[in-house]
Amino acid sequence: MEVHLFEVFEPGQYTYIGRVELTGEPYQERQPDAAGNPRQVWVFPLRVVDVVAPVAIPAELINRRLEEKEKQARRLDEQELRRRIHFSRPEAASRKVTITTYERNPYVAEYARRRANGRCQLCHKPAPFLNPDGEPYLEVHHIDWLSRGGEDTINNTVAPCPNCHRKMHILDLAVDREKLKREING
Ligand SMILES: [Zn+2]
Ligand SMILES: [Zn+2]
Repeated sequence: MEVHLFEVFEPGQYTYIGRVELTGEPYQERQPDAAGNPRQVWVFPLRVVDVVAPVAIPAELINRRLEEKEKQARRLDEQELRRRIHFSRPEAASRKVTITTYERNPYVAEYARRRANGRCQLCHKPAPFLNPDGEPYLEVHHIDWLSRGGEDTINNTVAPCPNCHRKMHILDLAVDREKLKREING
């Protein structure tokens, strides 16, 4: 019997991936159902055999789904975690994705880095290391994100250290935004 794989990245939207075949023995494991109650399921290890045309999925959707899976993984006990690793394939799966990039102005970025003068504009600590050219390594960040309609101007651009930069994207705190705006606009 031919088996075809469809994946769901957004509820109700089915993306055709291609025909698949079995690559290993089916096995059973416990997984939560829609209500979060554990139940026994059969898992069929598959691989896509003929891809008609590689489907490019927005990277954002892939990342959101991965974050969701990582969140679920945090709730597994040690034994279940080890079991799942045991049944995992060693090679990382790859896929084509589409990415929307915002082309930032290199002069604005350079200005922001010079203004920071080697120190993170959020925590005020010196850059954690020097880049291969021997300059303090700081990143460039838009206080109001470009993806949310923020402007690519020197009044919206700062130079944080990598830690603070990650923090701003993961926690997205108003208090940090206010602090940075005061920092550069006086
Ligand atoms: Zn910092
Ligand atoms: Zn950023």
